Amino acid sequence: MQTVSDLTGLRSVLRAWRRNGERVAYVPTMGNLHAGHFALVRRAQECAPRVVVSVFVNPTQFGPGEDFGRYPRTLEQDQAGLAALQCDLLFAPTVDVMYPYGTSGTLSVHVPEITEVLEGACRPGHFDGVATVVAKLFSMVQPDFAVFGEKDWQQLQLVRRLARDLALALEVVGLPTVREPDGLALSSRNQFLDESQRARASQLYATLTWMHMTARAGHKPAAIERAAVARLQRYGFAPDYCAIRVADSLRPVTTEPLSRQIALVAARLGSTRLIDNLPFASA
Ligand code: AMP
Repeated sequence: MQTVSDLTGLRSVLRAWRRNGERVAYVPTMGNLHAGHFALVRRAQECAPRVVVSVFVNPTQFGPGEDFGRYPRTLEQDQAGLAALQCDLLFAPTVDVMYPYGTSGTLSVHVPEITEVLEGACRPGHFDGVATVVAKLFSMVQPDFAVFGEKDWQQLQLVRRLARDLALALEVVGLPTVREPDGLALSSRNQFLDESQRARASQLYATLTWMHMTARAGHKPAAIERAAVARLQRYGFAPDYCAIRVADSLRPVTTEPLSRQIALVAARLGSTRLIDNLPFASA
């Protein structure tokens, strides 16, 4: 596996593949790769003969006071994991490559509506940072397929909209969340949890399945959301939201059937903020 960190290196590899008519599947990440990321790579390998993974901890998607500084950076370990999977190319750009005019001089991509609720409401500016870096990365890699995790459901819907609205010639592929045996979604942030927090963290998934159960029993979303918040608080979480929404638009539910709905949660355990979701169609 090759590793490149600049555009000249990236473009020369991509050109050689294109000359051979090989299609490219792409997995953007912030590194500190785990089994969830590796599942995305394997899915990408099913999509196209060439797979590019990028590792870039994107400063513009972190707000002031968020964990940009302490976000785990483990490039050598990531490189070894990707090489073992026979990934073709690791693109690990510097901030200068991604933001030639600096992070405050950069153009900014804003995807309206879907970004204004839930994570967008809790983390102002976060999705502009995500949309901007994804648009730049797509422009650099020009993939035929881009594989994203359903773990970040709202981000996946944003990327679908961005690709369609910019008429990009790529297919966005979503992959179900990879979980620990107790249901906790794999996340680079799980390592910040102490032993007691880790034991309680599985309640996030347990709460999502409880939200499903009560919705199937006919309870109304607003009542389920209130009870889910209280449930998480009992386990020591500080919830930002527990929500039942229309899965693709993330609008409040009106007449949509359960199969088009999704349960989403975001909560802090100590100083670690975790998110998770469970589409009704998946269960
Ligand atoms: P990040 O963890 O921010 O580097 O995410 C890079 C990609 O991996 C995104 O598309 C995430 O949705 C995806 N991802 C992260 N955790 C998981 C997981 N547990 N299962 C599946 N995909 C994941």
